Amino acid sequence: MSKPMKGAAGQMGLGSFGDGNVVLLDGGMRLRLDDRVDFWPGTQTWKTVIDGPEGPADGSSLASLLDYLKRTREAQGRPVSAPLARRSDRVVICDYCGRHAALYGGLDVYPDRKDLAERQFWVCWGCDAWVGCKKNSDEPFGELADEALRAARVAAHRAFDPIWEQELMSKLEAYEWLALTLNMPREECRIGLLKLEDCSRVNQAVWERFGALALD
Ligand SMILES: [Zn+2]
Repeated sequence: MSKPMKGAAGQMGLGSFGDGNVVLLDGGMRLRLDDRVDFWPGTQTWKTVIDGPEGPADGSSLASLLDYLKRTREAQGRPVSAPLARRSDRVVICDYCGRHAALYGGLDVYPDRKDLAERQFWVCWGCDAWVGCKKNSDEPFGELADEALRAARVAAHRAFDPIWEQELMSKLEAYEWLALTLNMPREECRIGLLKLEDCSRVNQAVWERFGALALD
């Protein structure tokens, strides 16, 4: 049996759920929110495990779930502080669901990252996907990334960075080699912009060229 993981809602792509707690069940297929509602992200359905003020409830969209939690919290006298989407004329589409993404402040996405407070993010909460914007702008760096892609990029950095950290190449040379290996222009070659399949190519290529680099 997989151990339930606990986290803050904001870090799990449920930022509009505010400071509620989330427990991952069934390997993340089911999320238990606030100890009272189970949510299945795959189907976007939810169902209460503890009756709320209106008795048992269920629904079939993230929006209706967040509404329900908001009403319940308000009835309990502890209202949810939902982050507000910001105004922008830019249209950014979530690649995963095809719906419009909305613009949020950095702390709405990463509540513990004070260094991102000034940054903005395009977010699709339903897909647990987001992308950061360029400094002082609402222009996204690339396309929205979901949890799997974010994890793959972290893994690619972990494989690649030791090349220059351990001075097997200079940082510049390392990125030139990577661009050549991935067959992409040097100026587009940033791990934060890579697609899922390129991330695994990074791991493979580093392994083939350098073998197992010393792990921290
Ligand atoms: Zn989406």
